[in-house]
Amino acid sequence: MKNKILISACILGENCRYDGKNCSQQFLINANVEWLPVCPEVQGNLETPRAPAELQGNAEEILRGNSRILNNVGEDVTSNFINGTKKCIEIANRENITFAILKSRSPSCGVGEVYDGSFSGNLTKGDGLFSHLCQKNGIKIVSSDDYSAIQKVIGRK
Ligand code: SF4
Repeated sequence: MKNKILISACILGENCRYDGKNCSQQFLINANVEWLPVCPEVQGNLETPRAPAELQGNAEEILRGNSRILNNVGEDVTSNFINGTKKCIEIANRENITFAILKSRSPSCGVGEVYDGSFSGNLTKGDGLFSHLCQKNGIKIVSSDDYSAIQKVIGRK
């Protein structure tokens, strides 16, 4: 039986990124894995393409209502992100997902570092909102940039 692993949909070639493009990684598309692709931002009813957004605080502060997520034209998209993230967690839990490969640096899917909220290209330590909630639900997360960790996850039997 193949592993079922959650993955950011844009990595599998879905044009769901803010700019209407994808960031597909061919070796993952070809992997012998049953993928569960999700996009928390699309699930949160954000349009594609859309203005890029950045976290204005860490993910836990945002979930607690103490910070927010803004796009680069100043709109507050916090509720879209939270709703979409929760929908994706429900999907993951329904499918008994234990591992997720998530797109680096995204405000939803980033692992370990995200843009710092200033829209200047600077990074800061932290996880995207969805990545954070995955971990709180016992799902192990791997960055799309971490090739050795990905090989271990997709090679599991
Ligand atoms: Fe990809 Fe995640 Fe951004 Fe959706 S929210 S486009 S899956 S990085």
